[in-house]
Amino acid sequence: MGLKSSEAIVIGGHNLGEADRIVVLYTLSYGKVRAVAAGARRIRSRFGGSLELFSHGRLVYFERPTSDLHRLNEFALCEPFHGLRTSLELLTAASEVVELGGMAGVEGEGSAELFALILGALRRLNNGMELSLLLRTFEIRMLRTLGYLPEIDKCVRCRRSLPEGVQSFGLNEGGLLCPVCRGGAMETTTVSPAALGFLREALQGEIGSSHVTLIPEVREEVRYLLQTFLEFKLGRRIRSARFLAGIPGFSLDTLSSH
Ligand SMILES: [Zn+2]
Repeated sequence: MGLKSSEAIVIGGHNLGEADRIVVLYTLSYGKVRAVAAGARRIRSRFGGSLELFSHGRLVYFERPTSDLHRLNEFALCEPFHGLRTSLELLTAASEVVELGGMAGVEGEGSAELFALILGALRRLNNGMELSLLLRTFEIRMLRTLGYLPEIDKCVRCRRSLPEGVQSFGLNEGGLLCPVCRGGAMETTTVSPAALGFLREALQGEIGSSHVTLIPEVREEVRYLLQTFLEFKLGRRIRSARFLAGIPGFSLDTLSSH
């Protein structure tokens, strides 16, 4: 109870009433926090433009003991990440980062690893790192942070080595399945040797910023596999497009091609 303070990143929000705003933050010390910024939409608000999506700063809030909606007192901006709102591609990529962060984050429970993962990805995006490579690396690191790193070297069920060629990935099992074990698996998706090669490098942390070039089909396959597995584990769809819902002609298909 009382005033709390933590380093924080704005990961979402929506308007409340005439002039207020509910802001969702991922904080270093207390995990996910939802707080009302009173008067945030007034022209002369004391928050100014500091509570924009992706903003990184120092949060002070008043904790309400009987509610999960607290009162935002102060947000001292450190990094505004203005650049992330300058193009649809960047906005979408950064939205996926904070959306996944919010899905993985727990209220009242901070994780230094998750906080660093979100902030690091926003910084790399802001510095112009190639989007799809950055997002795939982010998704793999997210799986590692959550303890869901997939098994891709042996059959996840019987530990036998795998034959060459196209593999079968079991979502429930959390890894590749040999021809014997895949028979009993409920939900599977296929993985090509090229996609597997990329995943192996990525899991070993050998993906740099430029030396990996993936053909669009493999790029799309890796994206589908990682996002489907994350959605399965987190029990929710990744719906980054909701931030952009008002844009005509914009669809999830447009998003996923980047
Ligand atoms: Zn097996």
